[in-house]
Amino acid sequence: MIDLRSDTVTKPTAAMREAMFSAEVGDDVFGEDPSVQELEEKTAAIFGKEAGIFCPSGTMTNQIGIKILTQPQQEIICEKTSHVYLYEGGGLAFNSGLSVWLLDGNRGRITASQVEDSIRPDNVHYPKTSVVSLENTHNRGGGSIYSLSEIKAIREVCLKNGLSLHLDGARVFNALVEADYSAKELGACFDTISICMSKGLGAPVGSVLVGTNKHIKEARRVRKVLGGGWRQAGFMAKACSFALDHHIDRLKDDHRRAKALGETLVRLGFVKSVLTPETNIVVSHIHEQLPLDHLLLRLESEGIKAVAFGKQAMRMVTHLDFDDEMLQRTCDVLVDIDSKL
Ligand SMILES: *Cc1c(COP(=O)(O)O)cnc(C)c1O
Repeated sequence: MIDLRSDTVTKPTAAMREAMFSAEVGDDVFGEDPSVQELEEKTAAIFGKEAGIFCPSGTMTNQIGIKILTQPQQEIICEKTSHVYLYEGGGLAFNSGLSVWLLDGNRGRITASQVEDSIRPDNVHYPKTSVVSLENTHNRGGGSIYSLSEIKAIREVCLKNGLSLHLDGARVFNALVEADYSAKELGACFDTISICMSKGLGAPVGSVLVGTNKHIKEARRVRKVLGGGWRQAGFMAKACSFALDHHIDRLKDDHRRAKALGETLVRLGFVKSVLTPETNIVVSHIHEQLPLDHLLLRLESEGIKAVAFGKQAMRMVTHLDFDDEMLQRTCDVLVDIDSKL
């Protein structure tokens, strides 16, 4: 099977498993797991932040990040296809009691002037705007990357208006290996950042939220009430540390393969258009004459899995367990399907 449904489908490598087996562990609720502490400190340091907290999922780190920056009855500004709004089960309302102001982005990216125009006047009729959330890279935007200048401009607007800024950095390392800015430069622009280790980095489980000591202390309270206090989580944390040490630079290979997939797809008759891959996500729009579920079944019968990504849109995501041989096979199958239509 060639599984391109998501970069979450990877299995730990032999070396990662070895690191996990030899992890030193303790009860993390008592603050006694050295492997968890190592990961939290390591991740915070990469982004120039004071502290980090290890959680089971990116949904949890996003939800906690936004919760500690807001009060119920306030409003969050985000893009209309952002993960925090679209894919977290209404958690902004459920966990934080927020109302949401949605913006239309360019491949998921919003601008400083859009943010500025969305801030509510100081008037009792309105919710109080209190936080902005960005996503980098942007999943629904086909793995699109923000420029540092736009992020800085958004940060300026936030500072001027007393708003906090959260980053959903589920795939932030995919952005960082391509962009002309560093993790620390990015880190300086945000109050809280959520980073997934189980996406492109290839760890089995886990995300880290980074921020100030004060924020992360508060985050521990919220994690506990969500049932996210865990025990010998060091086995998982060790896998994440291993991923940070060994799996960042290789993301470029995923991006090269995504670009090759995009170049093959765009030449096919049944493909209407492709969002030019910027990182590891390839979104293509399929002509109505070939119903998407037919295409997905055809691919599956050839041992290739992809997912529907809206009406007549297909997503393929490259990752650690997708190599050049699989790339060649996928391209051959796509061309073959096209030639037989
Ligand atoms: C995967 C993902 C998350 C977190 O998802 P979990 O499945 O909860 O780990 C958050 N944001 C984006 C953009 C994602 O792709």
